[in-house]
Amino acid sequence: ESVTPPNFIKDIIEEDLKSGKYGGRVHTRFPPEPNGYLHIGHAKSICLNFGLAQEYGGLCNLRFDDTNPAKEDVEYVESIKADVAWLGFDWGERLFYASDYFDRLHQYAVELIKKGKAYVDSLSPEEIRQYRGTLTEPGKDSPYRNRSVEENLDLFQRMRAGEFDEGQCVLRAKIDMASPNLNLRDPVIYRIKKAAHHRTGDKWCIYPMYDFAHCLSDSMEGITHSICTLEFEDHRPLYDWFLDELGVYHPQQIEFARLNLSYTVLSKRKLNQLVQEGHVSGWDDPRMPTLSGLRRRGYTPEAIRTFCDKIGVAKRDSLVDVALLEHCIREDLNKRAPRVMGVLRPLKMVLVNYPEDQVEELEAVNNPEDPSMGKRRVPFCRELYIERDDFREDPPKKYFRLAPGREVRLRYGYYVRCVDVVKDPDSGEITEVHCTYDPATRGGWSPDGRKVKGTIHWVSARHAVPAQVRLYDRLFTREDPNDVEESQTFLDFINPQSLVVLNECWVEPSLKEAQPGARYQFERLGYFCVDSRDSAPDRLVFNRTVPLRDTWAK
Ligand code: ATP
Ligand code: MG
Ligand code: MG
Repeated sequence: ESVTPPNFIKDIIEEDLKSGKYGGRVHTRFPPEPNGYLHIGHAKSICLNFGLAQEYGGLCNLRFDDTNPAKEDVEYVESIKADVAWLGFDWGERLFYASDYFDRLHQYAVELIKKGKAYVDSLSPEEIRQYRGTLTEPGKDSPYRNRSVEENLDLFQRMRAGEFDEGQCVLRAKIDMASPNLNLRDPVIYRIKKAAHHRTGDKWCIYPMYDFAHCLSDSMEGITHSICTLEFEDHRPLYDWFLDELGVYHPQQIEFARLNLSYTVLSKRKLNQLVQEGHVSGWDDPRMPTLSGLRRRGYTPEAIRTFCDKIGVAKRDSLVDVALLEHCIREDLNKRAPRVMGVLRPLKMVLVNYPEDQVEELEAVNNPEDPSMGKRRVPFCRELYIERDDFREDPPKKYFRLAPGREVRLRYGYYVRCVDVVKDPDSGEITEVHCTYDPATRGGWSPDGRKVKGTIHWVSARHAVPAQVRLYDRLFTREDPNDVEESQTFLDFINPQSLVVLNECWVEPSLKEAQPGARYQFERLGYFCVDSRDSAPDRLVFNRTVPLRDTWAK
């Protein structure tokens, strides 16, 4: 477990520090587009970029890549800031927006035109696609490719002034229509979009394309290592071309494998579809792999950071087992979550020899992993609730819990022996189990040394607090929901059991004041947190973060 996973980017940085490239500086950035909520894949990028800056005494910028006004919104900007901060990273003063560079980016475009390296193309978008060619077929020059510098400057000025409609013309870099790399076949660098931008309003009706804006934003901010996911590998020659042609400061782009997680989708398009079509309740549905969903599910930022450390940074795509993420949250909550007792599917237990009016308090340990968390007192009386599962009228082999005539230990309490059951006369369902308790076994051990195999949890029926419990499970039944037959979609693999709502649960009275977001271990059941949206003091709602053990193990 203590082996440091490989991170080839660290090797590159250490080489660069040794050779004095960039004057010994390390300056990274995390550049989200504000068109959706951050997910666990983004967390990998955040931990990597901010983590490298921390480790090498450098800087990391938070930069909004907001060059596409049609899809972006301040709602997303705010959620992204909240999520990065929650994950534990501080961008300090270093908050940037690509839209702040629109004037300078426009100047750079004009400079390329003046150098004869960019031209206004009046082909339609469809024609541009056709002229581009394919992987096996070279592209064709546009008939507008050889417009004069003066004509291009004039047309670009008129594009900016709003004289043309969307799609009527674009500004393209003049590179090589026969390049084997399609990205170099005169890529579009500016297009007309008559949409208001969430920060610049109606100032612009032309907007720069990602490839143009990104490298120049990196350059203007003095980034040293511009880290992005593998699908941008083929864009690197273009990244380099713009910076070289403009003769500006030149960061290096480094690509790494994006995070793919089993039983999960991590594409913003698919996550958006889940939300829009109502398969989940929103971006922060506790089944979503978004940071807001994981937070509401009960994940801690520490567990997510540990997970990102453990998966390492590689150059080859792979599918990470979601069980590793679940392992990380269990390990973290095992150390910090107070233990409590809650009964999810209640069955009444009556202790027939326990005095009717008596109530006593039993001492319970808050966390056996951490004695400093102390102890608490849990009320106990003649009527209790136990888990329906913990009683069988006709027990199978190796069932060590309660059954007629058998004895079990009540956690922190007494040994009890089942002497009778009460059934509903109509349905035949068991409505109560009657037991005798042994007063000599208080605290859970017997002076005569007799042993019981099973220990079960319980709550006092007279003191328990009602609660709703939401049992969350993996959202997909398929290990890789992205990899499906042509006739199917990822939606065909939604797990119908991914949410089970239990409305008649009882929790111990110490949870009466439980605060939204607070995390607990319900003994024997798993880790749960108070739902931050729907829980109220008189109507507690708990979300299951993760069961105690991996029930999906193959
Ligand atoms: P999506 O493909 O889901 O739309 P994106 O890359 O378009 O994601 P951005 O907002 O542009 O989303 O991402 C911001 C940063 O996070 C980028 O540098 C991107 O490379 C990185 N990133 C996005 N998804 C992942 C992932 N699954 N694993 C690692 N890094 C990721
Ligand atoms: Mg992106
Ligand atoms: Mg994208």
